[in-house]
Amino acid sequence: MALLGSKTFQNYIAGEWTDAASGETFESTSPANGDAIGTFPLSGEEDVNRAVAAAKEAFEEWRLVPAPKRGEILFRFGELLRDQKEDLAQLMAREMGKVLAEARGDVQEAIDMAYYMGGEGRRLFGQTTPSELRDKFQMSVRMPIGVIGVITPWNFPIAIPSWKTLPALVAGNTIVFKPATDTPTLGQRYVELMLEAGLPGGVLNVVHGGGGTVGETLVRHPDVRVISLTGSRETGVAVLKAAADGLKHVHLELGGKNAIIVLDDADPDLAVEGIIWSAFGTSGQRCTAASRVIVQRGIYEELQGKLVAAAEGLRLGYGWEDDTDVGPVINKRSLEKIHSYTEIGQEEGARLLTGGEVATGDGLSDGFYYRPTIFGDVEPGMRIAQEEIFGPTTALIPVDSFDDAIRAANGVKYGLSSSIFTRDVNKAFRAMRDLDTGITYINAGTIGAEVHLPFGGTKDTGNGHREAGQAALDVFTEWKSIYVDYSGRLQKAQIDAAE
Ligand code: NAD
Repeated sequence: MALLGSKTFQNYIAGEWTDAASGETFESTSPANGDAIGTFPLSGEEDVNRAVAAAKEAFEEWRLVPAPKRGEILFRFGELLRDQKEDLAQLMAREMGKVLAEARGDVQEAIDMAYYMGGEGRRLFGQTTPSELRDKFQMSVRMPIGVIGVITPWNFPIAIPSWKTLPALVAGNTIVFKPATDTPTLGQRYVELMLEAGLPGGVLNVVHGGGGTVGETLVRHPDVRVISLTGSRETGVAVLKAAADGLKHVHLELGGKNAIIVLDDADPDLAVEGIIWSAFGTSGQRCTAASRVIVQRGIYEELQGKLVAAAEGLRLGYGWEDDTDVGPVINKRSLEKIHSYTEIGQEEGARLLTGGEVATGDGLSDGFYYRPTIFGDVEPGMRIAQEEIFGPTTALIPVDSFDDAIRAANGVKYGLSSSIFTRDVNKAFRAMRDLDTGITYINAGTIGAEVHLPFGGTKDTGNGHREAGQAALDVFTEWKSIYVDYSGRLQKAQIDAAE
């Protein structure tokens, strides 16, 4: 693997690379082995204010660039990402920790989004409707909103910025982007490639630094009209409160406690594959990870045995090595949180079937590795079955019937993804109707969204908005309704039409 060596990076504001006003910095290190990766500006209020002012100024010109031209820049960005896919994946395995196949998928998702939103430059459809009056034309059009604050987590360091920045840009908005402090190098590469694609200065600004400083200043800034945040529920609530006084549009994609249901009639081997991939892929650090498996009793013993064997066959290691199945978790705090849930599960009386410990030895001791962990005999109300752990831990919950399974699946505060393994088409359709989540999979795990359908969740997973597909455009545009009267006289809606 080509190692980068640790470098010093800057913010990008008003078309120029620049240090934090304070001159302070922070380090990015690899969760795999502690290697230094980069030094970044620890920015503050002054830097955010400059970036917002630049984005506000750039908006006046960018909103007038024809949308197909904006789309062409996105398309070029997609091609640059495609050319750089392997380098970005290698960097991601190092800075974020995920295994190469998944890192390539992360970049591919951004490529797909670039092509999709690039095409939107030639659509951005509105509506025309007939008028109730003669000689009158009417239509609705999408308007850009202004400066967008984009705040992202570390777990999809290329894909998630693309879900937000690309629809925002094609619609004619400008951006101040704050990447997660655990993956700033990937945020930096993302912006560099956007500039290489031809984005004018000021349209996309990047300000590195903490959530409580850079993030919160962005959220409170009066000239930022939209905040798009992906992160934890706690952060979402704080952001929504901070944005309330400014009556901002707030788009929140938050946590999950996703369940896979396995009915007695399911193909057990297919279910095991789906569960292992959904529970332990990205070391369980996906918002759509399957941290609950709700199993009908007739198949419970068989499934449990196969799952434990499969989990114990997973190899932990550096993400950039080809034979690694599970990489590290993001940082020490996360490792400690994951282990605390193992202790909570044991105290609650769940049965620890495998894992439940920090993995050391074989070069793992310098990183943050946790053994894939499965609890059995979990009750739906236990904390390990209710709270987001965000690590390689899943809970097997036995149930008697389809109805009990649906009830257990819906009995959490989150509503992001769900899945059911069954060969009964009637039950599959009932599940599609009754599972209270934004995404449902039939005979597949809880992960695997594609960019042209809406992505997001119900209940505490968000506030009703969606990323991706056409739905994303609703976050980054305002509707304007336009009426054109060509009758030459004053016609009064509802009054003249009623005659
Ligand atoms: P986090 O909430 O700690 O941080 C997310 C981002 O918000 C970071 O950039 C952080 O610096 C910033 N931030 C923190 N406090 C802030 C504040 N007060 N004001 C403004 N910004 C602030 O989350 P994380 O640990 O980076 O990511 C993991 C979480 O993200 C999990 O809960 C996961 O489920 C969720 N997630 C959700 C989705 C989804 O689409 N629903 C996708 C991926 C991750």
